[in-house]
Amino acid sequence: MRKPFICGNWKMNLDRASAVTLAQATAKTAARLKGVDVGVCPPAPYLEAVAAAANGSPLIVGAQNMYFEPSGAFTGEVAGPMLKDLGCACVILGHSERRHVFGETDDLVSKKVKAALGFGLVPILCVGELLEEREAGRTEAVVRRHVTKGLEGLAKAQAEQVVIAYEPVWAIGTGRTATPQQAQEVHAFIRGLLADLYDPRTAEAVRIQYGGSVKPDNSRDLMSQADIDGALVGGASLKADTFAAIVTEGAKAKGL
Ligand code: PEP
Repeated sequence: MRKPFICGNWKMNLDRASAVTLAQATAKTAARLKGVDVGVCPPAPYLEAVAAAANGSPLIVGAQNMYFEPSGAFTGEVAGPMLKDLGCACVILGHSERRHVFGETDDLVSKKVKAALGFGLVPILCVGELLEEREAGRTEAVVRRHVTKGLEGLAKAQAEQVVIAYEPVWAIGTGRTATPQQAQEVHAFIRGLLADLYDPRTAEAVRIQYGGSVKPDNSRDLMSQADIDGALVGGASLKADTFAAIVTEGAKAKGL
């Protein structure tokens, strides 16, 4: 049985004090609903303060990005060992904003995924199609490429640790959510692909989150789907009570 994982992506929002307050409140949610892994990914400058606020609670702290090299002349980048040092357990990689605003390629994302595992960080590998790609009937082709390249070169035992976040780009920050059926279809496609790339046992072990305008009123229906194992939540993770409601509804969907 896959443990559900609901993670907030705070993006480039909040200040230090509000990040700490939100982390403290979300830590209480994580402690209340132990059947669900609950995480937050604050902006890098607040990681240490948020990790301190989460200390002693089950709240998982993650980063929003990292570079694949362990150190060196890479001005402005953050390395995996630095994230570990700050108390991170996971890192979002290949988010659509990284791919489409900052031009990250499949090749770069793949290097980051492999490096994160090597540094002991759980990668949250984001995959998903643009609106024009969906409308052109290319959703499966795009998702296949993102997943296949993102996991390239990983052994089964490594692939099992990766969390995949299916985030249709047209649903991110738009208020337009994929229907539970649309999301389930792609999640089932990803799980089938994992079975082809590895084997059915590995495919069953990998957690696949849905992301894209997840809210308290759609969390339960989305997470009721067999292959949806959690959520990556942007805007709605910035308010403690809203995020708590998403986690509560998600837990109910899984009978927890
Ligand atoms: C995200 O940034 O990963 C995301 C899903 O954002 P939102 O929930 O705001 O659509």
